[in-house]
Amino acid sequence: MGVLYFSPMLLGICLLLAIAISATALRVMVPTERGPGFWMAGSWSLIGGIALFIGFIISHNPVLNVLGNAAQLAGEALFLLGIFRFLGRPLPWWTVPVSAGLMSLVNTHYWLFDGNSDFLMGVYSTIAGLLPAQAIWLLLRYQHDAQTRPARLLVGVSLTIYSVVTLLRGYLGYHDWWHDQPYIQPYESFSYLLPYNFAIPALVMGFIGCTLMTTQRVLARSQQLADQLQELATRDSLTCVLNRRAFHEHLLQEMARAQRYKTALCLAMLDLDHFKRLNDSLGHLGGDHALQQFAWHCHEHARATDVFARFGGEEFVLLMPQTTATEAQAVLQRLHDGICGQPQHYQEQVYQLRFSGGLAELEPNDTPDSLLKRADQALYAAKAGGRNRIKLWSPNP
Ligand code: GH3
Ligand code: MG
Ligand code: MG
Repeated sequence: MGVLYFSPMLLGICLLLAIAISATALRVMVPTERGPGFWMAGSWSLIGGIALFIGFIISHNPVLNVLGNAAQLAGEALFLLGIFRFLGRPLPWWTVPVSAGLMSLVNTHYWLFDGNSDFLMGVYSTIAGLLPAQAIWLLLRYQHDAQTRPARLLVGVSLTIYSVVTLLRGYLGYHDWWHDQPYIQPYESFSYLLPYNFAIPALVMGFIGCTLMTTQRVLARSQQLADQLQELATRDSLTCVLNRRAFHEHLLQEMARAQRYKTALCLAMLDLDHFKRLNDSLGHLGGDHALQQFAWHCHEHARATDVFARFGGEEFVLLMPQTTATEAQAVLQRLHDGICGQPQHYQEQVYQLRFSGGLAELEPNDTPDSLLKRADQALYAAKAGGRNRIKLWSPNP
């Protein structure tokens, strides 16, 4: 009981088991992510290797020893492949058969020709310590995917600690072999403290880093989805400018601001003239093209603080905060001259865009509806007055 109580080996095995179970949970929870499948397979292969090793201690069957060591190294190699998979890099598959195969050869030679156990441990640790080198290099040099960078660093540092400790263990093995040290029990040997007290905790830290990398990627992707949905909800799909619903929110905000700080605010309603005719002559796709041209032009030439939106059909709105009626008329005139002054092209056809605009300035007791209504009345007056013009709302049209 006392031996078990102070057994880092038992604790190490339990930690590896915890990694294997957590990796399986990660794989089940995010089945579409790249990487967790390898971490799961790798950690279970490590556990399988340890189980075989325990079988060897009980039965003294050397085959179990050879298989156990091979399965542990294959497990480590698989675990590292998960990092390549996560980062979308070609997988160095060769590391699995090469590490397990090399170890099996040396291990078989050991049993057939009564080899040296320190040398065998040296070879095992050298392979295990060198395996993460490629993954560490990749983790530290990888430039894309900024959101996973902190976790990538954690994995890189953990694997480096694992490598250094394991290589040190290998060095001690070669040293004892070279100096022909007598065999001592593992629990009396310093080199056995290294894997259980330091290498396995470093591996645990690395796996935590892998989980964090995955979580950060999942979070970033769901944020991207949320942003796309937000974009879809607020933008007009044809012209990509704000839609009516989003405009309404801006209108409420800007009205509240203007009424609170007693600043000017103007609203213009713009409607393309005889757009039905244009649709008839260019075709519906040509009409779509004309709407896009118009929207891009206005969006491009409106000021950064103005809010431009498609209100519906061939009708657009432009909200101009901190702008008096006189200034707004100048803005609209500039827009009008810019788009109506030059011929437009659709395929081989040349056409002219014309629009009418109704302008209303915010009054102290305005509601969104009353302001919109006055802009609409001014637009109606512009149409009635012959189209292709800007009209400022006045109480006596
Ligand atoms: P007015 O000068 O009086 O505004 O005449 P108008 O022809 O522009 O106005 P009307 O309201 O009679 O017609 C608007 C046309 O705009 C009818 C509709 O087919 C067209 N329209 C609305 N939305 C779209 C669209 O997304 N794409 C295209 N191509 N046409 C559209
Ligand atoms: Mg129209
Ligand atoms: Mg219209």
